[in-house]
Amino acid sequence: MKKKKPKPLDIESLIICPNCSHKITKTAKELYCTNCNSHYPIVHTIPILIASEDKHKIGEAAYHSSVSSIYRQLHQLESFRNIYYHLQSLKPILECGAHSTVLELGCGTGYDAAFLLKKRLIVVETDISAGQVLEAKKELVKKGLEKNALFYVADAENIPFADETFNATLITAALHHLEHPVKSLSEMKRCTKKEGIIVIAMEPNRYEWIRIIGYGFSIVKKIILCLLGEKLFKNILKRTKKLREPTVERTFSKREILSLMKEAGLYPQRIKGVWFTCGFIHWFITLLNKITKKTWYIGRDIEEIFVLIDECISKIPIINAFVCNWTIHCRRD
Ligand SMILES: [Zn+2]
Repeated sequence: MKKKKPKPLDIESLIICPNCSHKITKTAKELYCTNCNSHYPIVHTIPILIASEDKHKIGEAAYHSSVSSIYRQLHQLESFRNIYYHLQSLKPILECGAHSTVLELGCGTGYDAAFLLKKRLIVVETDISAGQVLEAKKELVKKGLEKNALFYVADAENIPFADETFNATLITAALHHLEHPVKSLSEMKRCTKKEGIIVIAMEPNRYEWIRIIGYGFSIVKKIILCLLGEKLFKNILKRTKKLREPTVERTFSKREILSLMKEAGLYPQRIKGVWFTCGFIHWFITLLNKITKKTWYIGRDIEEIFVLIDECISKIPIINAFVCNWTIHCRRD
């Protein structure tokens, strides 16, 4: 049977006040709520739909805005290991078909949106960091993909869209930055249409191998300290600390993330552990980049081998509990 083409949505008419959930009114300069009299400015064409003055959120937004121009490089987003696993996580959303409407929370610099927009889906990009949303818009304009994209500064724990607006909702590598992940998961469910797709991708595992062998590293650290001397060692440490994210990040065991989802009324169709050897490469290159202040790459052919190894590892019980990230697909009931 031929798939019915979904009717494009008027997204702007579905924006709600993040303070009181009342329908919002738009003028050329701002959006405002006639119910609670809240005003939301439009800065560089992007509406700022934030109601909270929470310190944690302000810190997150400030940090991510400060690194927005180097974000792709910092997280090695052009590497094959990222392209492969991001695309894999987006597969159920891509299957929604052209003209379906997707909400992305914590959109960063529009990396995942580009894959969706190329397949003619309509993407609503949101992030709590205005700098990241601006960078996402800049990147997508550069790629000529902005036509079907909308951009808002919004809080993932308080989504400013009406119930059951989107065919799919996505959060990638951002849930672990939130103070109240269950709140965000519940909001994702609320904004997704019945039978719609919800994707939670690349969220860090609490028990990945790097933490287990971290104890081994502390012994190696003592040996290096003896060999290099304290001054040189501290100098290296200072360089690696410079680009560390200032806010607390959480990690999730498989049981924990499934329990949070259950609390939010979400029941996964599939949970997959991704990045084992790829995680090793990722953290090693990140460290190397920070120490040498250069950008290092691994050839695509070699990365493909590591991806293949990781695909095999993801199928081995017990060992697959030590992967770096979880990717979860749900269908909203
Ligand atoms: Zn209001």
